[in-house]
Amino acid sequence: MKPQLFGDVRVEKIIDMVEPFPAARAYPTEDLTPAGQCRDWLEPHFYDFQAQAIILSFHSYIIRTPFHTILIDTCVGNHKTFGGMLEKWGKREGPFLGNLAAVGVSPQEIDYVMCTHLHADHVGWNTQLRDGRWVPTFPRAKYVFSKNDLDASKERAKDAQTAYIAPSFQESVLPIIEAQQAEIIDTDFSLDDALTVLPTHGHTPGHYCVQIDSGNRKGILTGDVLHSAVGIAHPEWTTTFCEDKAKANATRAALVDSLTDQDVTLLPAHFAGPTAGRIISQKGGDRRKFQIAPEAV
Ligand SMILES: [Zn+2]
Repeated sequence: MKPQLFGDVRVEKIIDMVEPFPAARAYPTEDLTPAGQCRDWLEPHFYDFQAQAIILSFHSYIIRTPFHTILIDTCVGNHKTFGGMLEKWGKREGPFLGNLAAVGVSPQEIDYVMCTHLHADHVGWNTQLRDGRWVPTFPRAKYVFSKNDLDASKERAKDAQTAYIAPSFQESVLPIIEAQQAEIIDTDFSLDDALTVLPTHGHTPGHYCVQIDSGNRKGILTGDVLHSAVGIAHPEWTTTFCEDKAKANATRAALVDSLTDQDVTLLPAHFAGPTAGRIISQKGGDRRKFQIAPEAV
C-alpha cells in the first residue's frame, strides 16, 4: 500500500507478516461456494481459490498528524507464547521494527498506540523481550485500550476454557498497565481534530474502529470488523474469530451498509496487497464489492 494522505495526515502500513488461512476454518459454518462469484476482485490479493484460503495480512498503521505519531494495532510480535496451531508464531523473529524504521519512525517517536481490540494479533508489538522481561516497545507512548476488552481479557485469563488468552494478556497488555502507560477509554477518544474512535462491538466486547477526517478526505481503520474482503460481499458470514458472533455479524452488516458507495477509504486490519479501498454496490445485484483505492497501488 502506498502512503495515504488525508490532508496533512499521513497513513502508512507496517507489515508484521502475511499468511494464507484455510477459508473453511475462518468460516466453518458457511457454504463458501458463492465466494467464487467474487473471484475477479478477490484474487490475487485477498483470496487464493486454488488453495481455498483467505490471505491474512498482519500489519499496523502508522499515522502521522502535524502533532502526533500514532501506531494502530501491533500485530503478533516476536518471541510471544502461542499454543496449538499458532505455536509457530511464538518462535518467530519478524522484522517489524525494521519495517517501522524503513518509514522513518523510531519506537521513541510513537506518542500513542491504539489497539482496536486486545486479541493476540493486535497487541504483540506492545512489548518486547529484554533481559528476560516484557517491556513496552514504545517507551513514551500512551497505549489506548478499551475498558470492555480489558475487563473481558482479565476474566478470560482466569477461565480454563479461554485461558489460551492468558499468555498474550500477561506478555503484551499487563506490562503496559504496570508501566502506567495505559490510557483506558470507554467509547470516546479523539486526537488532533482528525481521529475519532467508533465503537464496533461484537468481534470483542470493546472493539473500536478509528475514523480519519482530515483535508476533505475520510477514512476508517476497520480493525477486525472485517477479516477478509469476502466479508464485504457476505457480511452475514460468521467467522470463527468473533467472540459474540451474532453481534459481530450485525456490526459488520451495519458498517458495510453505512460505507457502501461512500467516499470513505477503508484501511482494514487484515487485507493484504494494496489494502486500502472503498465499498461499492454492483449493478443488478445486491452483493457489494471491495474496490482497491487507485491511490494505494
Ligand atoms: Zn485480528
